[in-house]
Amino acid sequence: MENKRLPFTKDQLDMIIKKYPTPFHIYDEKAIREKARAFYKAFSWVPGGFKNYFAVKALPNPYIMEILKEEGMGADCSSLPELLLADAVGIEPENVIFTSNDTPASEYIRAKNSGVIINLDDISHIPYLEKHAGIPETICFRYNPGPLKEGNTIIGTPEEAKYGFTRAQLFEGYKNLKEKGVKRFGLHTMVASNELDADYFIETAHILLDLVVELSQELGINIDFINLGGGIGIPYKPEEKDVDLDRISRGIQKLYQEKIEANSLPPLQIVTECGRMVTGPYGYLVTAVIHRKETYKTFIGTDASMANLMRPGIYGAYHHITVPGKEDSDNLEVADITGSLCENNDKFAIDRKVPVMIPGDLVVIHDTGAHGHAMGFNYNGKLRSAEVLLKEDGSTKLIRRAETVNDYFSTLDYKGLNS
Ligand SMILES: *Cc1c(COP(=O)(O)O)cnc(C)c1O
Repeated sequence: MENKRLPFTKDQLDMIIKKYPTPFHIYDEKAIREKARAFYKAFSWVPGGFKNYFAVKALPNPYIMEILKEEGMGADCSSLPELLLADAVGIEPENVIFTSNDTPASEYIRAKNSGVIINLDDISHIPYLEKHAGIPETICFRYNPGPLKEGNTIIGTPEEAKYGFTRAQLFEGYKNLKEKGVKRFGLHTMVASNELDADYFIETAHILLDLVVELSQELGINIDFINLGGGIGIPYKPEEKDVDLDRISRGIQKLYQEKIEANSLPPLQIVTECGRMVTGPYGYLVTAVIHRKETYKTFIGTDASMANLMRPGIYGAYHHITVPGKEDSDNLEVADITGSLCENNDKFAIDRKVPVMIPGDLVVIHDTGAHGHAMGFNYNGKLRSAEVLLKEDGSTKLIRRAETVNDYFSTLDYKGLNS
């Protein structure tokens, strides 16, 4: 049953927690680099080149972004602090895409001035951008395909999403911006989240490549890159399988030949904005059991909480749990694994069959490398944990310290609370 591995042994972990008190997230550098390389290798055929702009929101830590930069990735940002992070890491502006929505003028001004690629979410943002920041030479539009024809059941109901241009708006927008002198165009859509079915992404590419052909034929607009967004899922559950990147790639390659090459269109770049699949499986929340409580159920109380990992609490998301040293134990029980927030949904697992635990046992929660620490918050006075990098040589580095009460009080000016 235990088929999700840890990148460290119990002995190694015992050494690590001597340096860093629980709870903390730890990220496996070697595995992140291997995934990045496999991703790029799968798409090495693309004539115009391939790039993943790592979705910074998934793991906004500059040390991780630096590793991904070394592996050839750019950054997908959607706020001013994310743009500042990408800049601090030294990611070239052309390797940063600003895919935001409901965007304030101040952020457009920053994005335009720093020369990053702007991906507009709505046609009304064309005059808004022009007024506040001016129109750049490169622009991308986010497409929302809306109610899809039958036979396209796979993609769900994009019309419910707040993102993107309609088809008519897309044609109008490109025409308008071509007249305004824009030189390079991108076309983006993102209709999936945590999707494990490879066909979903092939279908996304199909929609975009069809549009590339139509835009060329109807408006003489040449699309330089298509952006398939993020959303490639990861196997949170032990019985789930990794998305087959080669299958996605082959499917898209076939469509590329049929649509782009067969119509003699110039080569185009294919880009993505994946976050979760790049770092998600390679992060672990390490926490310790502090209480065992037996009432109408058994509750294993840890020293972490929803402030460190919110996905189970808000989405009922499954995160696998390993108890190092008890992986092969036959002494199992059904329990809820909880945090200390005054919220009954502050549970990492409900009715989970786990090894019998006692205070002092370590609990490792898997797949926290994306949308984990980043979604943390301070409700109930909870402090966000440290982040640790497990380096390729097995050594560790603190890449974000844990918050202190002074951090929590730092925005208050009251009787020296934060001094
Ligand atoms: C969240 C998001 C991503 C990343 O999604 P993952 O599931 O982490 O791959 C990429 N692009 C946009 C526009 C997003 O909102």
